[in-house]
Formats: sequence, C-alpha cells, structure tokens
Amino acid sequence: MTDIGFIGLGHMGAPMARNLLKAGHSLRVFDLSPSAMTGLVEAGAKPATGVADAARDNPIVITMLPSGRESRDVYVGPGRLIAAAAKGCLLIDCSTIDVATARDIHHVTAEAGIDCLDAPVSGGVAGAAAAALTFMVGGSETAFARAEPIFKTMGKAAIHTGGPGNGQAAKICNNLILGISMIGVSEAFILAEKLGLPAATLFEVASRASGQCWSLTSYCPVPGPVPSSPANNRYRPGFSAAMMLKDLKLAGESARTSGASTPLAAAATSLYERYVATGKGGVDFSGIIEWLREAA
Ligand code: NAD
Repeated sequence: MTDIGFIGLGHMGAPMARNLLKAGHSLRVFDLSPSAMTGLVEAGAKPATGVADAARDNPIVITMLPSGRESRDVYVGPGRLIAAAAKGCLLIDCSTIDVATARDIHHVTAEAGIDCLDAPVSGGVAGAAAAALTFMVGGSETAFARAEPIFKTMGKAAIHTGGPGNGQAAKICNNLILGISMIGVSEAFILAEKLGLPAATLFEVASRASGQCWSLTSYCPVPGPVPSSPANNRYRPGFSAAMMLKDLKLAGESARTSGASTPLAAAATSLYERYVATGKGGVDFSGIIEWLREAA
C-alpha cells in the first residue's frame, strides 16, 4: 500500500480519495475549505496543514482542482507542490485544465527532476463514487506504469495518450465531440416532434442507423428510450451544463492557439453559454434540449 497526498476534495476529489482509502492506501489530504476535509478525516485520512504538508514524504501526490489557475497556484512557486515534493515523487493532476498550463507544469516538474502526469477523467461524480472513471493520461511511459494501479483503484480504465499535456488534449477533444453531438441529437428529437415522428420511433431507427452515437444510445436527452439518462430524472447531473461549457471553452482556446478550425465547437460553445446564462449551469448538459425546444 502507498502513502498518497491528495489535494482538492470537492465533488470529484472526495469520492476518489475515499476509494483510495477503501483500497487500504494511507492518505494525507488538503483542501482550502476545511469542511471539505472533514468527511475524509473521519474516514481515516490524515489532515495536512497545506500543500507542502500534503506532499511531505509521500511518493505520490494527486490533485483534483477546479481549473488551470488553481493547478498552477498549487504546483508552481516557493513552498508549493513541486518545490515541496520529495525526489522520486510522482505528481498526478487529475483536474481538467488547459493544455498550455498542463505542459508548463510538466516543464517545471521535469526541471526539478520530478515525474508528473496530467490525468483528467471522464465519468462525472457518479463515476468517481463508483470507482468507474476513465483516466486520459499524458506523460512518460514509466510514470504511467507507476500510476496505473492507482488509476485502477479509482476507475475502470486508464489510457496512456502520449507525452505531456496529451491527457488534457484527449479530454477536450472527446468533450468537443460530446457537446456537439448532444446538440445534434437534441435537434433531431425536436424536429421529429414537429413532424409527428414519435421519439421512441426516432430512437429505434437512429440507434440502429448511421445517427447512432453515445449522446443518443447511452445518454438520450428525451425521457423514455434510455432509462438511466438524466432526462428521466428531471435533468439532474450527471455532467452539468457549466462543466460542458468549461470544457468547450478549453477546446476553443486550444483551437485558437493551435490554429485548428472548429466552427461547430464555437457554435456549441455559444449555445451552452446562452443556456447557462438562463441559470441552468447546474442542470445536466443534456437539459439543453428543453431550451432549444423553447427557442424553436
Ligand atoms: P469542486 O469545485 O467541487 O472541487 C474543487 C476543490 O478544490 C474544492 O473543494 C476547492 O476548495 C479545492 N481547491 C480549490 N483551490 C484549491 C487550492 N489552491 N488548494 C487546495 N484546494 C483547493 O470541483 P469538482 O467538480 O470536484 O471538479 C474538479 C475537477 O474535475 C475540475 O477540473 C473539473 O473540470 C473536473 N471534472 C469534473 C466533473 C464533474 O462532473 N464534477 C467531471 C469530470 C471532470
């Protein structure tokens, strides 16, 4: 069993840390919010007094933070994670952040002679609780091999996507597909309603024809065809519209800096921006169908 530092105990980090404890690992945890630490400490984790204390003597430190700004703040600078980590320590950032910041963090870690992985996840809060996350991992083969058993404790799959930043690249490209395809599937159901084609019939056809995709067959935005989809539970997340907007914005930023042409991602971002502006940021991202229907 391994001594692990864990920083960032929010909606995702807390259940991930809990699964590590359940597997018998020894955890020292830190969050800026003391109340976020309480549940983990009650479950057997040791409380750390700060970022450096969470890193002290631990061979592995995992972070699960809101965005690139917080990751940079936690990793880089005097008394922060990279400076405080012991030689031979492996730092794993599971936060979803921009590719440029992830690559900067890899650069600073490499200069300090420490191993680092960017390892964002898909699967949401339910996946974190059920230890069913998928990790997309950028960094060296050696670091990935070292971290793989830890990923398997918190998830169902870990895919090595290449060098520094490639975990974040895989995550935003995947969510670019998801954000666009959810809008496409929603528009098809809205048009079917107008044309008198029942939702169940469209589902039966499209799920067996070339319109088939995950947004349709695993996460259908209308109630009925896929009983486990948030549409059957008043669009409770799941994966919130605000999170989808965050990831689409990250994709847009990377598209701009790399010169990639992504006009549909730009349109999806604008639609999610308008949807979230109506106060629906906390609703599941598939709930956008209700807003699109009203707009029509
Ligand atoms: P969250 O806001 O619930 O949790 C973040 C935690 O980090 C908070 O408890 C906060 O207090 C803590 N924190 C912030 N700055 C800190 C600092 N400087 N030092 C220590 N702790 C600090 O967010 P979340 O929903 O758990 O998401 C975490 C990451 O996972 C995000 O990058 C998000 O995009 C990604 N993600 C979330 C989901 C989801 O469904 N929630 C799904 C996939 C990926």
